[in-house]
Amino acid sequence: MPEESRLQALRRQIAEHKARLEELHSQLAVAEAQELQEDVTVRTSQGVAAKSQRPEQLAVAEPQEPEHDTVAWKWPLEAHEYERYSRQMIVPNFGLQGQLRLKKARVLLVGAGGLGSPAAAYLAGAGVGTVGLVDGDEVEVSNLHRQIAHSTGRVGTSKVESAIAYLKELNPTITYNAHITHLTPQNAQDIVSGYDLVLDCTDHPTSRYLISDICVLLAKPLVSASAFQTSGQLIVLNNPPRQGPCYRCVFPKPPPPESVVGCGEGGIVGPIVGAMGVMQALEAIKLIARGDLEGGEVKPTTMLLFSGMADTPFRTVRMRGKRKACFACDEEAALTLEKLRTSIDYVQFCGVNAPVQLLQPQERITAEEYGRLSKTNKDEHLLLDVREKEHFDLCNIPGSVNVPIGRFMSTRGDAIPDGLPSNLPPTTAIYVVCRVGNDSQIATQKLKDLGLGNSERIIKDIKGGMKAWKDTVDPTVPFI
Ligand SMILES: [Zn+2]
Repeated sequence: MPEESRLQALRRQIAEHKARLEELHSQLAVAEAQELQEDVTVRTSQGVAAKSQRPEQLAVAEPQEPEHDTVAWKWPLEAHEYERYSRQMIVPNFGLQGQLRLKKARVLLVGAGGLGSPAAAYLAGAGVGTVGLVDGDEVEVSNLHRQIAHSTGRVGTSKVESAIAYLKELNPTITYNAHITHLTPQNAQDIVSGYDLVLDCTDHPTSRYLISDICVLLAKPLVSASAFQTSGQLIVLNNPPRQGPCYRCVFPKPPPPESVVGCGEGGIVGPIVGAMGVMQALEAIKLIARGDLEGGEVKPTTMLLFSGMADTPFRTVRMRGKRKACFACDEEAALTLEKLRTSIDYVQFCGVNAPVQLLQPQERITAEEYGRLSKTNKDEHLLLDVREKEHFDLCNIPGSVNVPIGRFMSTRGDAIPDGLPSNLPPTTAIYVVCRVGNDSQIATQKLKDLGLGNSERIIKDIKGGMKAWKDTVDPTVPFI
């Protein structure tokens, strides 16, 4: 039937139009989606600008593949490095070039303590390509107030391993080398030769001379810092190598051993050493980023002096250049790698602080003997504690009187040191205690020299000082 066949033809046409219409709708949706993609960019976890499909899908979208996986990456740094270091790269005169130099640099920190912790943190954070740490010590609770790379949970572990665990949290994308040992004349060449720049973050003259010598011999610039109580110093040495002064040029002779007091004995305020470590990192970054390691000009050597509690805490003093006939860095110097390894005794050079042996055995008393005596003879003697006031205030033997050793040393003629009771009966015995039994001998001798030790009066010191008291009489003493 013609009508029926026309009707069927019309139905086919309607179906075809419907299909065409659906196809057009679908093409329109695709076009709209593409338009959205142009507008919306999302930072993925890889730090790459990736395009999203639709804003509402962002929260659940799988992480996008970095764009450079599919498109050839044409930039000198990795994508994640642009994100991590962008804030320093946009600083005038730092730039991409500075970052590339940092990435290439290998920096060794000798000491992973109060200086090394902040210095390493800022160098790792800044993207120094290789950071090496040398230290043979383990983390102690008393380190934690200033050695910020360590933590309570890592007490008893190697400082180097503890610091690297901390640094990897900070920046896992660079290389860390662990040297779990003290730097010695025998291992110094092997360790230091793998680096471009060295930071001296130690706290004893013995290591300072060794580090400086090996840096001279291997032509490595050295950023040296120190901190004690409330002050610090910083100097860049051997920069450029063999042209700038070395540590021996500045300090040809080590300080007398008895004047060397470590942080364990003399104390240190945390931010003081922290500030010096941060300044070391800054000096290192300056040397690397501005290209000095690739051949810088000779600049005047200056020393930064930091007095943390002063009204004007920072001062800079100009230093002399290289010292003529310097043992280490003079052109004619006798120092060689072979000599350093085999025949230089740095401990002997810096001197050993030998125990004082001023008094005869009969002029001394053991802590145990004094303990017994003090129980039975409470009122008829005087116990002088010659430690510094701060030590005395932390803990002391009940009944003792504090007259710090400095007052004995500064008295002139036959003046009695301040703080010593002036009306002591001539028969009252005097006992003297200090930290480990050295200063107490000096004070005892001084009292005798002043004429206080007459035939009626006993003056003796306590052998081994507060340490012996803690070890043999009162183990609850919290600090010596
Ligand atoms: Zn020198």
